[in-house]
Amino acid sequence: MQGELQQIYRSLKAYLKHLQLLGITSLPRGELKEEGGNLEEIRLRVQGCKACRLYTTRRNPVLGEGNPHAILVFVGEAPGGEEDLQGRPFVGKAGELLTRIIQAMGLQREEVYITNIVKCRPPGNRNPRPDEIEACLPYLFEQFEIIRPKIICALGSIAAQTLLGTKEKITSLRGRFHPWKGMLVMPTYHPAFLLRNPQFKRDVWEDVKMIMEEYKKLT
Ligand code: URA
Ligand code: SF4
Repeated sequence: MQGELQQIYRSLKAYLKHLQLLGITSLPRGELKEEGGNLEEIRLRVQGCKACRLYTTRRNPVLGEGNPHAILVFVGEAPGGEEDLQGRPFVGKAGELLTRIIQAMGLQREEVYITNIVKCRPPGNRNPRPDEIEACLPYLFEQFEIIRPKIICALGSIAAQTLLGTKEKITSLRGRFHPWKGMLVMPTYHPAFLLRNPQFKRDVWEDVKMIMEEYKKLT
């Protein structure tokens, strides 16, 4: 044990010496953290979460996935059937459309982060209830604190109304940025809604174009 510690100490010292020779004399705290490590810690807590009734019917909770340093985060409503099976967000039919929208923006799913307001599937894909949203929301806020995105795309009325704390209709919320907690929220229609109402794709395209303009300024 003693010898092992000494060895770690010696190699750390050698590494720091090496950095010093390269002209690096101080290290920002954040860089010492393991990449995405804290998101994995949340994932473990969500795995065992029983904070609302949805834990009784879920197969797999869905924390989210993507770039832990994403500038842009997409927030949906709740996992559906396929998401519940795979434990991954937006992997069903609506997910395919979301992936295409992201690609049309000139991005890849891996560059952004994708999550939901509620992490467990509501039975029969009903809307999550207010008490379920309230129980689950702290996880989303923790995710935002770790990722620190600049832009949030709120997909559908549940996500938009929950984040912005309003009952205003998605129709009137979409199409403009809403400053929120130092970030910019762009509400738009949910991809599942678009599958049933393709005539609204044009509006979504307008919304994501605004996101891209802002995104380019930030990169
Ligand atoms: N719909 C959502 O809101 N989220 C998903 O992850 C999948 C479908
Ligand atoms: Fe916990 Fe959220 Fe799942 Fe409810 S939906 S059990 S609060 S992780």
